[in-house]
Amino acid sequence: MKDNKSISWRQVWSEFFPLLGNWWRSLSASYLLGLCAVAAAVLAPWPLKYIIDNVLANEALPAPLQPFQQHFDAGQLILLLAGLAALIAILGALCTAAEKNINARVREKMALEIRASTLDHITRLSLSSNTAHRSGELVMRLVTDVHHVVRLFTKTLPLVIRYLLTTLIVLGAMFWVAPQMGALGLGILLFMVLLVRVYAGALQRASRNKRRNEGKVAALSQEIISGLPGIQATGAEARVRTRFIDTNKISLHAGVRETRVAVNMERTMKIANGAATALIIGAGGLLVMAGKLSLGELTICISYIHQLLKPVEKINELASAVARGTIRGEQLIQLLQQQPEIIEASHPLPLVKQPASGDIELKNLTFAYPATQSGQAAAAVFENINLHLKPGSFTVLEGASGSGKSTLLNLLLRLYDPQRGEILIDGRPSTQLKIKDLRSQFAVMLQTIHIFAGSLREALQPPHRLLPDRHLWRVLKDVALDDFVSSLPQGLDTPLGECASNISGGQRARLALCRALLSARPILLLDEPLANVDKHSQQVIINALKKIKGQCTCLAVSHQAALRQCADRVIHLKNGHFIEVAPTDHSDNEVI
Ligand code: ADP
Ligand code: MG
Repeated sequence: MKDNKSISWRQVWSEFFPLLGNWWRSLSASYLLGLCAVAAAVLAPWPLKYIIDNVLANEALPAPLQPFQQHFDAGQLILLLAGLAALIAILGALCTAAEKNINARVREKMALEIRASTLDHITRLSLSSNTAHRSGELVMRLVTDVHHVVRLFTKTLPLVIRYLLTTLIVLGAMFWVAPQMGALGLGILLFMVLLVRVYAGALQRASRNKRRNEGKVAALSQEIISGLPGIQATGAEARVRTRFIDTNKISLHAGVRETRVAVNMERTMKIANGAATALIIGAGGLLVMAGKLSLGELTICISYIHQLLKPVEKINELASAVARGTIRGEQLIQLLQQQPEIIEASHPLPLVKQPASGDIELKNLTFAYPATQSGQAAAAVFENINLHLKPGSFTVLEGASGSGKSTLLNLLLRLYDPQRGEILIDGRPSTQLKIKDLRSQFAVMLQTIHIFAGSLREALQPPHRLLPDRHLWRVLKDVALDDFVSSLPQGLDTPLGECASNISGGQRARLALCRALLSARPILLLDEPLANVDKHSQQVIINALKKIKGQCTCLAVSHQAALRQCADRVIHLKNGHFIEVAPTDHSDNEVI
């Protein structure tokens, strides 16, 4: 994995900023509204200045306002100028609100786009990469990290631009009103910026540390929640609790450290702000006494220094939003930079026949899992193996636990690529086929059955086709689930819990087989279809498989002899080699 520090904010910027181009119209409108809001803020103190310097002191108003002075008396003018102040405030508020609404819309759209492409990337990564990134951390990337990155570009960035603009215009206006006050304002600002720089590095380090630890807590929480039934069954609650608390404690210390740095920064800023205001009032007061500044101009300078210091007060918040967004962006880029190990052929070949006839050939296949993160190389699971499965054949692959049965299925599905040798589907190397074309030839019933929460009908429908209910019922009958489903008050509309947790293990396995059969693909892969299943369900599954025998090439992996009843061939997997056994014969013969 790449070192965190090797990704800079520049990369975060160049990776995500161009995405904003997709919404340039909305963003232009929002920046225009922001500009109006800045203008309103700059104009806000002027009506009061005119009241003090012109109306109360009975001086002539500036030329554009003079017609009012001729038609209204002083009292009316004061009310008019107060109304103008209210109007400026209302316009400013409306522009700010509209700007925020537009930015929020863009934020949601941008988050959706980044989430979708991150998910696409995660689904292309192979199993080993996904286990390297623990699932809790991936959830964090997809949800929280995207949120912070998007916030950086659609909330923090417009705010920074707005504050910069306000600062420039306000400073310019201060210089124009009274150059001495402008110079003082500029000095104060530079001092504040220096103060912020002192704290920014420490704050970034502290939040980076906190985030890393938060990732660990999220990963552990995910592991605990998904393993809850096992934890309860083995009484491991206390041990898990200790581990959880220990991990949280590290995260807690990191959180406290981050807050401490942030609070120190805020405290120093507040003190400096107070001192700056005092300086402006003192210096401005002296200038008024010396006749170099009018009272109205002093009120403008006081109002402007508050506007000038407001962004500085927020710098703490902005700096941590920038730091957080950058760090989260770095993490996301690290994930997005991970190359999928399974790479699509540059000029993929079509299948000889679509759908395939189901001829599978393994030729001199050698495979070892990728080295672990600590660099430890894994032993080869297979070395130089050969196997030919004819279309329509039913092969049962037996072998002790850990002998490599599931690995063989993973290789067929191209979830991994072999180091040497090849897998031919209808005579074409699987690495030269389009991954989507290849995988769409397989119906699978994996050992860990995954069913999304939703209705039974949704769980049964194949991914790219919508089958009529009568078709679903026919296959439900084949796996003897028709009576059960019709006895449910909501029938096919019955909601299934996450992973179909509200039905029994045997029913879940039969449902998974039903789903595989419904997808009607030329090759059927079954990984331990009889494991963790009651005797009745085992028999139902065997009968269903006998019924489809000959219709597709079937490779069933099992360590239970019961499945031999369905088989044309039985193969033993032992020490990385195949040994063929006749379904009725128990003497082992080396094959090929
Ligand atoms: P079986 O399905 O026959 O029980 P597997 O194919 O799951 O066995 O595993 C074969 C060997 O590969 C085992 O030694 C197992 O520890 C190892 N193995 C399985 N999955 C992985 C993985 N993702 N990374 C590294 N090694 C693995
Ligand atoms: Mg297995």
